[in-house]
Amino acid sequence: MSLRRVLEEVVRPFLSSTNTSDIEAKIQGFENSLRAMGAAVPSIASQLEVDDLKDIGLPAPVRKVLAGKIREDCLTGASSVVGADPHTNLRPASFDQVIGHGPFKTLLLRAIIASRQEGKAMRHILLTGPRGLGKTTLALAIAHERGAPIRLLTGAQLARPQDITSQVLSWSAGDIIFIDEIHGMSKAAQETLYSVMEDRRLPVTEQRRGGRVQTSVPAPDVTIIGATTNPSKLLPPFLNRFGIKHQLAFYSKEEMGQIGQRSCRLLGFTLEEEGLGQLIAHSRDNPRTLNEFLIQLSDLAKSSSRDKMTSQDVTELLALNDYEGGLSRHERTYLETLHQLGGSAGLTTLAQALDMEVTEVEQSVEPWLVRTGRIRKTARGRQINPPTPSSLEVPTHG
Ligand code: ADP
Repeated sequence: MSLRRVLEEVVRPFLSSTNTSDIEAKIQGFENSLRAMGAAVPSIASQLEVDDLKDIGLPAPVRKVLAGKIREDCLTGASSVVGADPHTNLRPASFDQVIGHGPFKTLLLRAIIASRQEGKAMRHILLTGPRGLGKTTLALAIAHERGAPIRLLTGAQLARPQDITSQVLSWSAGDIIFIDEIHGMSKAAQETLYSVMEDRRLPVTEQRRGGRVQTSVPAPDVTIIGATTNPSKLLPPFLNRFGIKHQLAFYSKEEMGQIGQRSCRLLGFTLEEEGLGQLIAHSRDNPRTLNEFLIQLSDLAKSSSRDKMTSQDVTELLALNDYEGGLSRHERTYLETLHQLGGSAGLTTLAQALDMEVTEVEQSVEPWLVRTGRIRKTARGRQINPPTPSSLEVPTHG
């Protein structure tokens, strides 16, 4: 845990913006006070609240960001001890390792070079598409290629305009701000952010003698990369602030093969071609699903001290994950329920039968059934399609 790093990130930009003198000594003073109150001790740091810092001599919005960053820093440190998200290790670190997206990568590279030459932040980017297709992966690769620091946030963390205010205070010019599930921001928060994006001004309310006054303060020149599964929830003017938009498509079997081979290499085992083909056929052209299977296979490889995995291992793994005839348990239950209800039903009824949230059914159960023609969405609800040869067959690799 580095209190100094957090202070440099949060407090130095604030002190500079207020033309404070002797910044170095002030930061040292803040560090000493934080240490004295135990903020370097993980069990205290992980619980730190804005009020715990009230005697430190900083305004409330800065204290709020500072407390949040200390907590975050403490948790990030802990996660590297207990084991980080396994997907982190499989994410391509650079642009050339990102599989697919050929034309989009060309456009991005041009935008990156242009922004470097102009010495400005890149235009804002919006990535749309289902979960697991590589939105976070692309954002990290863009930051790597541009050589810019990236901050990872979610729309839920920026739900209210005041969340934007406290975040913007901690941003520096040139930063890339990745906002996952950006549609989680309220309309008011979207309005605040688009003023930062367009005019580089942060709207603030000031208490003056005559009452509250709406004004604005300068905001840093940053690039926002938004990711969403649901762009229809974004306000049209907010959408328009994104100069580069990309709808991520499902990957081809060849691209899935390359992603799978790369992941096997990184996870330290080999897999028979037929086995990889089987996993790809059950991954719905989605790299995250494929990597989840491969991480489970790597558990088997490690626990049985092997480094050569077979199609037999894959067949057993799919059975353990409750796949039958190429379908997951949820997909089978969905179809059975629809069948029992006479071939058509509303989404809510189906979600109840599956004991799942409606959005979860829409995002993780229906897409494959729609894509393989097993069901169709109509104005009156969901309808089962008569089985066709293609919907009966279990897809195979290639
Ligand atoms: P999203 O942000 O869209 O939910 P992620 O970026 O988290 O998706 O990707 C999910 C997983 O798939 C990660 O393990 C990542 O390594 C892998 N992945 C996604 N897209 C690609 C790609 N184009 N090339 C290589 N691996 C990818």
